Amino acid sequence: ARRRDDSVDGLFEGLLEGDRYALARAITLVESTTSKHRAQAQELLSKILEREAALASEQSTTLASVGPLKGGDGETSETIPLKRIASLSSDKNQKRLTGNAAMAAAASATSSSSSSSSSSNTATSQESPAIRLGKSFRIGLSGPPGVGKSTFIEAFGMYLVSLGHKVSVLAVDPSSARTGGSILGDKTRMTELSRDDNAYVRPSPSRGTLAAGYDICLVETVGVGQSETMVADIVDMFVLLVPPAGGDELQGMKKGIMELSDLVIVNKSDGALVDSARYAQIEYTSALKFVKAITEHWKARVIRVSSMGGPETGIQNAWETMKEYFDIMESTGELQKKRGEQRQIWMWRQVKSELMDLLNEDTQVRSMSKELEVKVLRNEMMSGAAAHLIVEKFMKSMTAS
Ligand code: GDP
Repeated sequence: ARRRDDSVDGLFEGLLEGDRYALARAITLVESTTSKHRAQAQELLSKILEREAALASEQSTTLASVGPLKGGDGETSETIPLKRIASLSSDKNQKRLTGNAAMAAAASATSSSSSSSSSSNTATSQESPAIRLGKSFRIGLSGPPGVGKSTFIEAFGMYLVSLGHKVSVLAVDPSSARTGGSILGDKTRMTELSRDDNAYVRPSPSRGTLAAGYDICLVETVGVGQSETMVADIVDMFVLLVPPAGGDELQGMKKGIMELSDLVIVNKSDGALVDSARYAQIEYTSALKFVKAITEHWKARVIRVSSMGGPETGIQNAWETMKEYFDIMESTGELQKKRGEQRQIWMWRQVKSELMDLLNEDTQVRSMSKELEVKVLRNEMMSGAAAHLIVEKFMKSMTAS
């Protein structure tokens, strides 16, 4: 194991080697609010930026130097996360790393990471090297509690790792959508996966933006609230896990979430549940007929898996379907387009969040809005009129300063 070196240089070296300890330390630094840590974080980030610039100028060499599956391929796989850090650090107004900022950074992360030539895309039956060529594939996973998300991610993640991929798992907690999510679920259920050197299970997306060298990122969310939309806006593919039951379950399913889904996976298709899983597959397939396709290049599909058996119980098929999606989206240019649009969405989210932060920091506006809140509560003033007054006050105070 590496020596644990907490100096900026030590962390930098560690990050380049994909060292998990260095990664965890770097994340802590970037998220820290103490000025000492922040200074160190800045130094680390500028080192990374420098390297990023150097890499960009020699990109052709970089892409040619794909190493073995495990370790040693630092050059390519780091390109992506370094971009994330770059976009984090370029925000000079950033006082602390908010979840939104981090999510935005994640969304913009892969801007130039898919530039490798499609000639490398000679997908062999073994494993498409395309995704390893400095590309990242972000997959969102949603579904109601108990559907088997953790179990699926564990099985799926282990399968991906067995193919030589590096996998990171992030979770978004819908209850803290504004801060970008916190710990979700019980990560100890993914024991095997979190112990694997090629996997990185991290409970928060803001932290995960620094996940260096992990080429497949699974973003998990509970199928409630706004979190699906947020997740759908940072991932390349949105996957919905559903239980092996149709009818009522499906009725209760919000139409919105079906519209977001690129793939529906009926989980627990094993043992006595196989028949109901088949039935669910049919029901979801027909339900999807009434849902408008997100892109002309891909029609949402419904497959069945069991997360309890081996890869042959549908896990492998799930990955092949996802890869097929990735390849189609990429070769048609649709993926780049989607990521571009996501970056725009996150730009505006960031604008809103920063404006709100500024507004909340303004003492005059704050005291005024406290009074207005009371008036609105008592129905002494229309909410719209109060909102207008707050914004007006804020603009005045902005121009005054
Ligand atoms: P989550 O809340 O969506 O993360 O669901 P969990 O992964 O915790 O799984 C909920 C329950 O379903 C657990 O008792 C699992 O053992 C079980 N489960 C998960 N996947 C499968 C599966 O493929 N087949 C069967 N039979 N049970 C499963």
